[in-house]
Amino acid sequence: MSQPSSDLAAFREIFSKAKHVAILTGAGVSAESGVPTFRGAGGYWRKWQAQQLATPEAFSRNPSRVWEFYHYRREVMGTKEPNPAHLAIAECQERLGRTSTSSTDGGSKDVLEIHGSLFKTLCLSCGHESANHKSPICAALEGKGAPDPNTDEAQIPVDDLPRCEEAGCRGLLRPAVVWFGETLDSNLLERVEEELDSCDLCLVVGTSSIVYPAAMFAPQVAARGVPVAEFNMENTPATMRFKFHFHGPCGTTLPQALARHQSEAQKVEGEVEREVEREVEGEVEGEVVVGGRKVEGEVEGEVEKEVDGEVEGEVDGEVEGEVDGEVEGEVEGEVEGELEGEVEGDLK
Ligand SMILES: [Zn+2]
Repeated sequence: MSQPSSDLAAFREIFSKAKHVAILTGAGVSAESGVPTFRGAGGYWRKWQAQQLATPEAFSRNPSRVWEFYHYRREVMGTKEPNPAHLAIAECQERLGRTSTSSTDGGSKDVLEIHGSLFKTLCLSCGHESANHKSPICAALEGKGAPDPNTDEAQIPVDDLPRCEEAGCRGLLRPAVVWFGETLDSNLLERVEEELDSCDLCLVVGTSSIVYPAAMFAPQVAARGVPVAEFNMENTPATMRFKFHFHGPCGTTLPQALARHQSEAQKVEGEVEREVEREVEGEVEGEVVVGGRKVEGEVEGEVEKEVDGEVEGEVDGEVEGEVDGEVEGEVEGEVEGELEGEVEGDLK
């Protein structure tokens, strides 16, 4: 076993050629935004740690307390903007259509949340699971859930805790997260397995490779000879099985690792959304093929707002300035020569 590499250029070479990247993320990504995990040294909510409250027994004994704990976590999560690591992952998914697996706080599309979500509820009577972003989740929890050990318990009557809204049900809701002592959803695990069986690069982000979810999956990917890259604050013994390890906050290491590759700047294929806002500014020279047609010449002017749709083809040279307006769907025909001035409005 050799020491994993921290050679960013070597990673980016592999990343640029990878067809199917699987991303495993853990609580470390959100912890970087200041979302507490209530685990490990000093990780207490009142006088408890997550493993004492995140259990079916704790919930049946004291649903009010457990709901206070989850209400607090939902509210904290709701105040945080996505951090640079979240954005890098979301951007990578959008740009390249890659799927990721998170523990409980993915939030974005194409994320398989193997430990459930803080923003989903499960009805104990009818079994209905639904997304729930209400703040507060119910009137009785408003202002409750403070983590300070001297806080009085809210002792909310069970009737006033979150209740099912399915017609005629009103069953007690619980957070739809996988608690300690519960098994992971087998259908979801199957989908994760499929993702990992077909990936040709695996990223392990903000989670130690010896804890879930990475511990379960990353070694089997590495065993297939597929490169695994860890982005984490810690080195672990399992790190040695992986090709890359990038040490430090993933908000720092991940954006540079996943940024658009220089070779991608010349061949742009797929979906472009926020890319255009950030990177297209000023003059465009060379070839642009939009909707299968060639666009040639110079474009000068401003483009702002959203560019939604597909951009295919080659971009050579410098892109500077702003783009204003919406581009949706297909652009047909050939444009040759110079385009100067402002582009505003819709191209549909
Ligand atoms: Zn129900």
